[in-house]
Amino acid sequence: MAKDTVILTGDRPTGRLHIGHYVGSLKRRVELQNAGDFKKMFVFIADAQALTDNIDNPEKVRQNVIEVALDYLACGLDPEKITIFIQSQIPELCELSFYFMDLVTVSRLQRNPTVKTEIGMRGFESSIPVGFFTYPISQAADITAFKATTVPAGEDQKPMLEQATEIVRRFNHIYGETLVEPNILLPQNAVCCRLPGTDGKAKMSKSLGNCIYLAESAKEVEKKVKSMYTDPTHLRVEDPGHIEGNTVFTYLDAFCKPEHFGLYWPDYQSLDEVKEHYQRGGLGDMKVKKFLNKVLEAELGPIRERRKMWEQRIPDVYDILQAGSEVAEKKAAETLNDVREAMKINYFDGDFALKNIANILMTSFRASDIVGRIGGDEFVCFAFIDDLDFPKTVQAKIQELSNELNETCGKPYYIEMSVGVSEFSCDPDIKIEDLLSQADSALYSNKRYKRMSVLK
Ligand code: ATP
Ligand code: MG
Repeated sequence: MAKDTVILTGDRPTGRLHIGHYVGSLKRRVELQNAGDFKKMFVFIADAQALTDNIDNPEKVRQNVIEVALDYLACGLDPEKITIFIQSQIPELCELSFYFMDLVTVSRLQRNPTVKTEIGMRGFESSIPVGFFTYPISQAADITAFKATTVPAGEDQKPMLEQATEIVRRFNHIYGETLVEPNILLPQNAVCCRLPGTDGKAKMSKSLGNCIYLAESAKEVEKKVKSMYTDPTHLRVEDPGHIEGNTVFTYLDAFCKPEHFGLYWPDYQSLDEVKEHYQRGGLGDMKVKKFLNKVLEAELGPIRERRKMWEQRIPDVYDILQAGSEVAEKKAAETLNDVREAMKINYFDGDFALKNIANILMTSFRASDIVGRIGGDEFVCFAFIDDLDFPKTVQAKIQELSNELNETCGKPYYIEMSVGVSEFSCDPDIKIEDLLSQADSALYSNKRYKRMSVLK
């Protein structure tokens, strides 16, 4: 990791987190966090995304926000070192998604293999909610709003990262270098990229009910391990067994460490030895499951204990989420400023306007350089906004301003107003600096007005 690395990753609050999340992403996040070799690290709870396929069940999503936060803290994510936030609390993410929608075609979204599978799993074929269909776009916004460079995630997220990268490239190509391309950080151990469920199905997933949850009691875990899918052809102990597609061995590949043999199963020295015996025949499933249960307990026991401690401090957990969301919002707002400037939709942006005016002032233009002509009258054009009772108060203010300008210029003037834009005629020979400072003080003396730009 380099010092300018920005790490970002999240989870949907559709249920408590399971050991698939743990090996696929969570464990790596904690390691990265503790290594400290990054500029910023964000972890977020994707409640808005969870609502895309749970729209009629907001209570479920709300409850699971706190469950996921507890799982984070239980695994060792530390709000002193990283920012933990809730997606829906960052309105900039919706705005960015909206702009991104113009950069992606429907057919491109239809090609996303993860979304295809998920549509099938949810029986959405004939009635896909638009929000669900477009979630890869909103996910691209989640990532790019924080200028994330590195996203630790499981294999199912690969198509999302590809989509995000395409959006970034397209955006930067059209609007200039603004956003940062993200990279997926897959688990180093291949079996952890997509941990299967206890039923042997392709992926352990909250939505499939085939999970071992991080918060589960030792008894529950033991029960699930005992009834786990193994090798259906391995009927008697003496039969040769298969380890391919055998979930017990897949989990051992994901969790077993060399020291576990000395501690829990001294008959063997390595997983390879166990595998070899199983394949040869003579090793029963129950023995292997017993060992797996101990291996899992070694990892899950401390997580369960930390979770119990945090469960006593729920108000503190909410405080952590709120503080994190405030920090995250600031960062996203910075990016959105860049995005709006790049897309030329920052009409009322103070900095932008001031920069423009400063440029004009610096070149010492005369008013005659920026005057325009309406029906033979000379005018200087100012644009400003009123965020209160527009346009009545604007009209009153224009009148006031015009009087002031008239006094300054000592000449008759001409006012033309369209929505939010007023134009004042004046002496084309007045020094622009003088004119601007007059208009400036007139506008700024009333805090409700903000001058935006001087149009040439
Ligand atoms: P849902 O069914 O609601 O989509 P999920 O179990 O797929 O839930 P997500 O919140 O979509 O969980 O995924 C969060 C993170 O965990 C992602 O980085 C994803 O790649 C990773 N992940 C989820 N399931 C697994 C798994 N079985 N193996 C490895 N990584 C996983
Ligand atoms: Mg998922």
